[in-house]
Amino acid sequence: MPQRAALIPPGRTIGILGGGQLGRMTAIAAARLGYRSHIYAPEAESPAAEVAAAFTCAAYDDEDALARFARDVEVVTIEFENVPQETLAFLAKRRPARPHPRALAICQDRLAEKRFLAEHGIPVAAFRAVDGSDDLETAARELGLPLVLKTRRLGYDGKGQIRVESADELARAAATLPRGAVAERLVDFHLEISVITARGADGARRSYVPVENRHEGGILRTTLAPAPIAAALRQEAVALSERIAEALDIVGLLAVEMFVTRDGRLLVNELAPRPHNSGHWTLDACLVSQFEQHVRAICGLPLGSTARLFDARMDNLLGADVESWPAHLTDPGVRLHLYGKREVRPGRKMGHVTRLLPPGRD
Ligand code: AMP
Repeated sequence: MPQRAALIPPGRTIGILGGGQLGRMTAIAAARLGYRSHIYAPEAESPAAEVAAAFTCAAYDDEDALARFARDVEVVTIEFENVPQETLAFLAKRRPARPHPRALAICQDRLAEKRFLAEHGIPVAAFRAVDGSDDLETAARELGLPLVLKTRRLGYDGKGQIRVESADELARAAATLPRGAVAERLVDFHLEISVITARGADGARRSYVPVENRHEGGILRTTLAPAPIAAALRQEAVALSERIAEALDIVGLLAVEMFVTRDGRLLVNELAPRPHNSGHWTLDACLVSQFEQHVRAICGLPLGSTARLFDARMDNLLGADVESWPAHLTDPGVRLHLYGKREVRPGRKMGHVTRLLPPGRD
């Protein structure tokens, strides 16, 4: 049942599990509202810790370090969903965890996620659980080819995913099958969109306009806000996202990635109970960004306006793209965000640029 959250007033400390750029931008938004952030991450180099008041660099199963972290913070959140569920459950016994560990457990397991969505009547691509080569053959017979085979856990940015188009590829996939996988029918999509919904502990909801996401090699390259789809489909996408946030009893943000099929239907692909790369445009184009909205929700503050002041195009700076930073600084229509990562690796998210465009009428 939705409950009125105890207000965590400015001046208190927010605990963030994960040390990446999403944590960094959350900590910056928290600081603007007068909060301290304490980052907990196992990696010594942390874009989030560089802008936070405190940093615990320790393993996710270090219970002493976790207990000390819990004593220093008022609320715990995450900045990526591959934090072990046990870590969040340990902390949830000591401090409010937003999202709660049950929602995290669902969102970090593709099979649990698809089953949860299907049970709640949310449209998803046809799928089957695959635990061995027999299951794979059954899945191929029932779903037909081509299909996409995904690991249940720890897949992100298209990693842990293979396409199976032919009987030969099916045999090869069976030989290298990861333990615990999901087979999904390949969706012939027109475009990919996402919706970011904020939900408060009192059940209040606010969603940003659906955006179009363009991927390259499984990695998000560009987000266009708003998505070029009909108003009715936008409303449907927002309604779906808000239904899922409610069903998961999320407090904070939920990002919902969806396919728009060629015949105009929506199929939900993935959930992330946290700020999301496809919401970075809100930093520059909306009154209240996704990061501030997340802080407001988890601290029991009123949710802010999701109104957009501009349309926008966000491009990730991946790997060596970041070397283009001087040009972005002289472009008057663009805002540059760099994450301070020292090592440039191919495909690594080093920063992003948002181009602001005149707002559309709707
Ligand atoms: P995911 O890791 O599930 O977010 O998938 C990464 C990307 O792979 C998606 O953004 C799509 O571009 C593509 N993809 C994933 N699942 C499917 C599917 N069932 N049909 C077609 N493309 C897919």
